[in-house]
Amino acid sequence: MSDGGIYASLGVRRIINAYGTNTRLSGGMMAPEVVAAMAAAARACVEMHDLQAAASRAIAEATGAEAGIVTSGAAAALLLGAAACMARLDPGAMNRLPDATGLPDEFIVVRSQRNMYDRALRAAGGRIIEVGIPDRLSGPGVRDASAGEVAEAITPRTAAVFHLAGEGAEPTLPEVARIAHARGVPVLVDAAAQLPPVGNLRRFLDQGADLVCFSGGKAIGGPQASGILAGRRDLVSSAMAQMLDLDLPEAQFVAPPEFAALNQMRFLPHHGIGRAGKAGKEEIVGLIVALRHFAAEDPAARTARWTARLDAVRDAVPGAALVPDGAKPGLPLLELRFADRAAAERAEAALRARDPAVHLDASRIRRGVLAVNPIALDDADLPLLAAALRECCG
Ligand SMILES: *Cc1c(COP(=O)(O)O)cnc(C)c1O
Repeated sequence: MSDGGIYASLGVRRIINAYGTNTRLSGGMMAPEVVAAMAAAARACVEMHDLQAAASRAIAEATGAEAGIVTSGAAAALLLGAAACMARLDPGAMNRLPDATGLPDEFIVVRSQRNMYDRALRAAGGRIIEVGIPDRLSGPGVRDASAGEVAEAITPRTAAVFHLAGEGAEPTLPEVARIAHARGVPVLVDAAAQLPPVGNLRRFLDQGADLVCFSGGKAIGGPQASGILAGRRDLVSSAMAQMLDLDLPEAQFVAPPEFAALNQMRFLPHHGIGRAGKAGKEEIVGLIVALRHFAAEDPAARTARWTARLDAVRDAVPGAALVPDGAKPGLPLLELRFADRAAAERAEAALRARDPAVHLDASRIRRGVLAVNPIALDDADLPLLAAALRECCG
């Protein structure tokens, strides 16, 4: 509630975001130290490769990766990761993307993992090669893609195997990594929303990912327009070269040690394909501070902080129950069960019609369930939220 003022002055209604860190609801909220760091960053200039080198050190510490960069989001990180897998350290290829003629440009994707964020692979110039028949999901069978089907799809035209991180992914990431690495092919992992648990910052890299993408604006609590690409130094360096503004005399550019692989390039590329996903100094600094905070906070303390928000509103709705989020260990939700889907839809619409509008997690509304997600809530809004729930769901 603290700063609805700026939005009011723009004629924009603020909302109470009890849905989660969804992009259309403007992500989450940043801790005061992240806001302060961004404001401080805005008051001095630096050379961007020096700042990305500092980000790389912070990302390496938090994830165990060899190197990392901050992008404008996980989607931009995916685009840059794909560009890196295709162009590697070839500046001519960097200049040509998204024309990937002559490059390995195929991304093998398990059909059940297809999603519209994988457009980033195509936006970089890649082509998606689907494998597997996920009939365990459509009902009539018990299988998804097999390790053998992924292996068979790998050819000299393969740029990478793409993997969408998530519980129940088949084949598993360790299996995919084993197959891909046996053929000298990298694995690019979309883990944008796979936090918490904090252990996932390291887990996918430990399981063999060569590159992994995270959103900065989801549970990490960084700027809404920030993301992380972390992994192998040569690939991250390629991604860095394709996002940096390298509009300077070639002799002036000296790659920092974090991106030492760039010194192998035959010449300096121009603005790369990642220019459309650049992160500013404010985002980079904000992400570094948020990531350190997220990695350092005791997970039990974080869960307690989130639980306290839900406890403050749970009495508003008889029968409301605290439940763990199935996919995100450590994240509690306050679940509201309605008689049927229509009743849940009426309550959801009534909450959105208020001022400020209240948005609940409606991902299970088909089953008559709404939930309060605490991540993006402001403590100062809890009394307003409780009153809204009491009126619309009580
Ligand atoms: C949110 C999300 C993205 C995009 O992340 P941004 O940081 O908003 O760019 C990509 N992939 C998945 C699976 C996501 O959930």
